[in-house]
Amino acid sequence: MVLNELGARINGALQALSKEPVIDDKALDALLREICGALLESDVNVRLVQQLRVNVKKRVNMEELASSTNKRKVIQNSVFDELCSLVDPGIEPWQPRKGKQNIVMFVGLQGSGKTTSCTKLASYYKRKGMKVGLVCADTFRAGAFDQLKQNASRAHIPYYGSYTEADPVQIAMDGVSQFKKDKFDLIIVDTSGRHKQEVELFAEMEQIAAAVKPDNTIFVMDGTIGQAADAQARAFKQSVDIGSIIITKMDGHAKGGGAISAVAATGSPIVFIGTGEHMHDLDKFSARPFVSKMLG
Ligand code: GDP
Repeated sequence: MVLNELGARINGALQALSKEPVIDDKALDALLREICGALLESDVNVRLVQQLRVNVKKRVNMEELASSTNKRKVIQNSVFDELCSLVDPGIEPWQPRKGKQNIVMFVGLQGSGKTTSCTKLASYYKRKGMKVGLVCADTFRAGAFDQLKQNASRAHIPYYGSYTEADPVQIAMDGVSQFKKDKFDLIIVDTSGRHKQEVELFAEMEQIAAAVKPDNTIFVMDGTIGQAADAQARAFKQSVDIGSIIITKMDGHAKGGGAISAVAATGSPIVFIGTGEHMHDLDKFSARPFVSKMLG
């Protein structure tokens, strides 16, 4: 079930509750059954769904709440809060600081939208007045540097890469030191994605991280992958210190489960979502507006 459908179904269940003449345990159970069913169909991890059910039931005390109006309100609020907490680990996301040379490293599987998101983020901070540079440390995929070069040129963002150097760690170090020397505020390092979670990919990420010492590592994940999200996010978290998450392709057939699993598996906050292929298709993420919008 895609995100819009998930929102519509939860909303439908909440609306059905407001039409119930009597709000009792039976009505609450029916609501939770519908909401939890919808979450499971959206690939949200079963343990998290179970937790949501328990938390809502804990907050709603049928005997203490006098009127049905009160009960409805408490139930609606607690469902809303629980949905928010699924996408909010309660951590203040890292932000580049003015007056400092901030280094950000991107990690993620090939095809996740990593290179596109690098340029989107660079462009976002450029619009905020920062001097931003992009480093292409992906020597694995033929054409990776050309892609970054093309995207960066279109956005008028300085870039660094090499057609001759084969060592991604060397490129990352050279690019970062070049931009540091030129007093850049934000240096974004794109790393190789490869198509699978191979041992070599994680070893390479660790080496690049050790060499450039990023202030923040952003994990990019395709929002349409559903059930696979949990294992993927866990695997990345084991190798690198994930600071924040960007979920891409939220304009397409994204299910809610992908984003929710990534947060649960890493304990890191989603900072942006990708909402299209163009440069400006990047939305700042915060849990409450996201859930409100999902519910329509
Ligand atoms: P990488 O291999 O992880 O670097 O992935 P790319 O940045 O090359 O992106 C893979 C494909 O996904 C490209 O066709 C992008 O245009 C597309 N893409 C990236 N982000 C988004 C997004 O937020 N929405 C949509 N619809 N497409 C995206």
